[in-house]
Amino acid sequence: KLHNTILELKGNIRVFCRVRPLLPDENTGTDTVVSFPTSTEALGRDIELSQSAGQKYNFTFDKVFDQEASQRDVFVEISQLVQSALDGYKVCIFAYGQTGSGKTYTMMGRPDAPDLKGLIPRSLEQIFQTSQSLKDQGWKYTMQASILEIYNETIRDLLSYARKENGASSSKQYTIKHDANGNTHVSDLTIKDVCSADEISSLLQQAAQSRSVGRTQMNEQSSRSHFVFTLRISGKNENTEQQVQGVLNLIDLAGSERLSRSGAMGDRLKETQAINKSLSSLSDVIFALGGKKEEHIPFRNSKLTYLLQPCLGGDSKTLMFVNISPDQSSTSESLCSLRFAARVN
Ligand code: ADP
Ligand code: MG
Repeated sequence: KLHNTILELKGNIRVFCRVRPLLPDENTGTDTVVSFPTSTEALGRDIELSQSAGQKYNFTFDKVFDQEASQRDVFVEISQLVQSALDGYKVCIFAYGQTGSGKTYTMMGRPDAPDLKGLIPRSLEQIFQTSQSLKDQGWKYTMQASILEIYNETIRDLLSYARKENGASSSKQYTIKHDANGNTHVSDLTIKDVCSADEISSLLQQAAQSRSVGRTQMNEQSSRSHFVFTLRISGKNENTEQQVQGVLNLIDLAGSERLSRSGAMGDRLKETQAINKSLSSLSDVIFALGGKKEEHIPFRNSKLTYLLQPCLGGDSKTLMFVNISPDQSSTSESLCSLRFAARVN
């Protein structure tokens, strides 16, 4: 492995928390829900949540971004991790949180405004830039991208034209297989060779379109499905014959909100059960991986964890963003999200 040292100190799992600003129509009442203690040693790592009853809850993460943090501020903290995919590491970056907490803003951002680009476009730009500059040292890279979503424990290919045309989900099976080298194969999934960040941004646009075709039919399903962008990176050094195989997975998870207190039924219930199952499996897997003792890691309990299995164990690197809404009405969901994140941290 080349020039990477990040994350060697404390295992390979990191949790960052990001609090988004209040939106114009949100409660700006006198009670502050989220605050950032500055008196402790863990400056920039602590967050305090206050409930209206006066109860306070404190959490410490590897990093906490407050409302003021820009997209660039966030990217600066992850750019080394992204870079390590070029050194042959398998990297997963997740965004977790209730719908409306800022997951998609963090991952994709606003593609129309350069300053507001999220970490997916920024990461890809950096990957291609760095791979160009490593040419001088003899490195040649080839990259392949795929984009899929997992909805109700079923994989959908977001780069399949067939699906785009008829708008319906195809009858393809998308079976997941892992080979002995730790490579994942999803049958029938579209894999694109890519040579530039621009090429990938048009794939991301295509994916967004297929997603919205589905959305009109499936009732706002984008917040009910996991979005998984995967970049496979193969590098070969012509001087030293060294070879590396890295993977960068960038994942915008389904909304973590609990089912509305009253009874949901039918499709909605099935959806929520699928989301709960995959998010709790993800938490179980990451928790087990962080444990000291050899434990059974329950990768097979959900499509998401099974798909990502080779990229979650071993010497792979995982970063989870927990996104938080600062408004009063989200307090109890925010507490759930912080507890979820504290468990895997
Ligand atoms: P999610 O994907 O979790 O459902 P979004 O990313 O769509 O949430 O964010 C919800 C709203 O909040 C959007 O209007 C988005 O532009 C805005 N938003 C989220 N995070 C930020 C932020 N850090 N700064 C400014 N606006 C944000
Ligand atoms: Mg979203």
